[in-house]
Amino acid sequence: MDNPNFSIEFFPPKTPEGAEKLRATRTKLSALKPKYFSVTFGAGGTTQRGTLDTVVEILAAGEDAAPHLSCVGGTRESIRDILAEFKSHNIKRIVALRGDLPSGYGAAGEFRYANELVEFIRQETGDHFHIEVAAYPEVHPQARSPQDDLQAFERKIKAGANSAITQYFYNADAYFQFVEQTNKLGINVPIVPGIMPITNYTQLMRFSDMCGAEIPRWVRLKLASFGDDSASIKAFGLDVVTALCERLLKGGAPGLHFYSMNQAAATTALWQRLV
Ligand code: FAD
Repeated sequence: MDNPNFSIEFFPPKTPEGAEKLRATRTKLSALKPKYFSVTFGAGGTTQRGTLDTVVEILAAGEDAAPHLSCVGGTRESIRDILAEFKSHNIKRIVALRGDLPSGYGAAGEFRYANELVEFIRQETGDHFHIEVAAYPEVHPQARSPQDDLQAFERKIKAGANSAITQYFYNADAYFQFVEQTNKLGINVPIVPGIMPITNYTQLMRFSDMCGAEIPRWVRLKLASFGDDSASIKAFGLDVVTALCERLLKGGAPGLHFYSMNQAAATTALWQRLV
């Protein structure tokens, strides 16, 4: 598929074995020629080293890579240091987030919301970085209202973000509505749908409860009916998510961002259906 905004997300491995496994996953996914890989960042800097190491390794392999950077729990000084380190490794793209502090982690730090981080990155580093921010077609779970959330998104773009990646969703209409509303506000940056392949029912339900993604009733019931039959869950999940991606691309989505969960198989299968 000739799509300029096709990207794949990893989380940083915690062990040497995990790093080895991720290397193998990346080699397989590189064959799909994504525009870049992104690597998540634990709020409060818990995975900071792992994020940077993973990004640097991907860059060294000749692929483009973007670290995520969450500001919650951070200070201006700590974020300044991280930005300097990113620059020293010739990193050019960042996914800028507020993040969520693990409960009992401590103080919120000097940044309250992601727009403040975007503003700070621009102040400190000018146009060096291409900045991606998060978008929530089904509304962020802590938002006071959908309108408030849309305004929060607008602030991030006005602060200097270049493009956005959405939280995953399975209701295409929520995405199209969101894009339409942003266009009405004069926002024209690419808003790339985040795509979560369906491979594991329990895990999907847990994640979706946390991040506010709705699993349509018919999908949920069907998945539950398969019980432990993992092959049927994966086959049905592939059909559902392929149809979603096709609809999104046909409707004008500027690309797709795959939450790979450090696995190559589901993203590859999806991609092969789409080309
Ligand atoms: P914000 O845009 O700051 O919004 C957070 C909430 O605050 C929203 O409810 C918003 O409506 C509200 N809000 C914003 N401004 C105001 C204001 N002035 N007054 C009142 N309310 C306001 N988390 C990680 O820890 N690490 C990662 O690597 C990571 N990667 C992600 C990648 C993507 C593509 C996505 C979609 C999410 C990712 N997350 C990650 C999760 C993210 O950190 C959480 O969803 C977090 O709760 C919100 O981050 P944000 O950047 O969207 O925050």
